[in-house]
Order: sequence, then C-alpha cells, then structure tokens
Amino acid sequence: MHVPFLSLKDITAKYADELHEAVLRVTDSGWYLQGSENKVFEENYARYIGTKYCVGVANGLQALELMIRACKILNGWNDGDEIIVQANTYIATILSVSQNSLKPVLLDPNPDTLELEPEAIEKAITNKTRGVMLVHLYGRCLYNEKIAEICKKHNLKLFEDNAQAHGCTYKGKKTGSLGTVAAHSFYPGKNLGAFGDAGAITTNDEKIANLVRVLGNYGSSKKYVFDYIGENSRLSELDAAVLDVKLKYLDDDNNRRKQIAKMYYEGIKNPVIKMPSVLPEENNVFHIFPVFTEKRDELQQYLKEKEIGTIIHYPIPPHKQTAYKEWNDLSFPVTEKIHVQELSLPMSPTLTDEQVKFVIKTINNWNLSNKE
Ligand SMILES: *Cc1c(COP(=O)(O)O)cnc(C)c1O
Repeated sequence: MHVPFLSLKDITAKYADELHEAVLRVTDSGWYLQGSENKVFEENYARYIGTKYCVGVANGLQALELMIRACKILNGWNDGDEIIVQANTYIATILSVSQNSLKPVLLDPNPDTLELEPEAIEKAITNKTRGVMLVHLYGRCLYNEKIAEICKKHNLKLFEDNAQAHGCTYKGKKTGSLGTVAAHSFYPGKNLGAFGDAGAITTNDEKIANLVRVLGNYGSSKKYVFDYIGENSRLSELDAAVLDVKLKYLDDDNNRRKQIAKMYYEGIKNPVIKMPSVLPEENNVFHIFPVFTEKRDELQQYLKEKEIGTIIHYPIPPHKQTAYKEWNDLSFPVTEKIHVQELSLPMSPTLTDEQVKFVIKTINNWNLSNKE
C-alpha cells in the first residue's frame, strides 16, 4: 500500500467543482489585485479567527515581517531591540525578526510538550525586550495565560506565528486571536493552503492592520503618495477566491486530521517511538504529526521501503544554519535533539483509515521485523 506524506492533488480534487468555479469567476472578472475577492476573504477569515481585522499579504514570511515592522514603527522600537522566540522553529520566524534589524533571543522549549516555559521567557527579558513570538508549531497551541500575564507585566507585544495552526483553539479561542497580532501562511501544504504563495495578518488593533496594509502596498495609503519605504506584498484575487472556498471546509479537514492523530496516538505502541504529550485545554490541528526516535534516519528509510512518505521538520535548527554563522556555537540541547530525532508521519485529511492503519502496523513492526 502506498501512503503519501501529503497529496495536494487529492485535497484539491475534493473541492474541485467549487475551486474551478472560483478560479473561472476571477479569470473572467478582469480584476486581479485588491478587489472584492480579497475583501470577502479578509472578512470571512477575520470572523473565523475571531479578530476585527485581517489583511491579506503575499506570503507567510512577509506577514511575519510586516506585523513586526508595523509594531516597530508604531512603538518607536530601535534597531537591536529584542524579540523572544523559540529556537525550534522554521527559519521564516527568525528571518522576520532579523529582517527588521531586531535581535531574535532564542529559547529552548520543554522537551515533552515542545512548548515555551513561562519561567524561561521571564528570565530572558532584558530592558531591550519588546515582544514574545509564539510559534504554534505542528498545529499545537503555545499560548497560555501565564505567558500573556508576563507580556502584560513587562509591556511586551505578543506575536503569534500561526502558519501551521489555522483553526487551532485554546479554551475555545482561535490561535491568531490570542495576542497583539498574528501572521498566517497559506503556502499550499498548510492546513489552509492556496494555489501558490499567500499569507495574512489578523489583529484587533486597527492601527497595526492599517499600517500592514500600507507597508505591503509600497508604503502608500493613497495612490502615488508614499509615507514609508514599503514593499510589494499583496494577496492575489485568485488566491483569495481559492482560500475562501477552502476556508468553508477547514474545520472538517482539521477534524479528519484529529481523527488520524487519535489513531496514531492509540495505535502506535513501539517502545522506541516517542510522541509529544497532549494537554487537555488544547485543540491541536495536527498540521504535522511528529514522532521522535533515536534511530530517526533508519526509521525513515524503513518506511520509505514500505512506500510510506515522511518528512523531517526540520533537519537543521536555525542557530546551526550558515545564514546565522554568529550563533553556530550556541547550544540549545532540546532543540538540537528535536532536529536529530524528529520524523513527520503522513498527515492529510484525504488519508483513508486503511492507510493510517497500515502506517501504524508498519511502525509497530519496526525493529521486530529486523530481528526476524
Ligand atoms: C510555512 C511557515 C512560515 C512561512 O510561510 P511562507 O508562506 O512559506 O512564507 C513561517 N513560519 C512557519 C512556522 C511556517 O511553517
């Protein structure tokens, strides 16, 4: 049995009629940027997340970068001011801080929950700290009241990188509505994915929303009048129309991901495989289903031979990358262990029960079969 890591073709096929209709509607409209499709999607996505504002941008990295830049401008932050962020994240989170000439202050997460410890955040605060960035990595929520209290107490902005967690909730409230402002990526493989690069920010702060829109439109709020050295970061009408169709089915798709995760949690019994613990107040949307094992590369090879697709998220942590040479000697033991041991199992709303059962059986036979 072949089990792909993720089949975008299958996901699109599920909603093909409505997607084709949306694409045709935009094609025939003759209007491709900054039009009614953006307006409708922004309204619907803001309502879904539970914020007053949503601003569509060109991709997730620019959503992160522009939300931080808006806060930097509005609050008069200086170059070199600090943003606290977890060391185990996708590089884009870190890039968005550096690209604003701010300093990412990296923290190791808790090894069991993969979440940031409030105590560690508080310890890392200096007189230059301006914000804390929570990355809802793998689809699980990193927010909690303790972290919010620390931010309030120290007058810090609370940023969310919600690229992997569309639809995730904490005590009933969606991630993307829990802090000052949040960035979302709609890269095709995300839980809510476009047909190319796309992204958005969500916030209840009107000033931040307006400024992100201006900064992403060449720094202009009025045609041919430029108030900032801006950039071009706009969501295409085509992608807005596609996203608006898929948004209607996001909860259904996330529910299927949760069912699959439940099957993995209940079915995988191989003692050499560790899965992250689940906290009751969280509602993980399983963008990724990570497992951890000391023989990660062997497991990946074994699954490949059984035609089961897996991916490593991610093989090299940001502080070990050449792009951040100055950090290469820093040590984040939990993060480094995650990057050596992590393997992402097939996770897609289109997987069948039979495929998931096959993955579970194959994993449970690993090592046992080697000894036979
Ligand atoms: C995908 C992703 C991004 C970047 O989004 P793009 O749309 O690819 O630029 C940022 N942060 C995290 C955690 C991501 O997974």
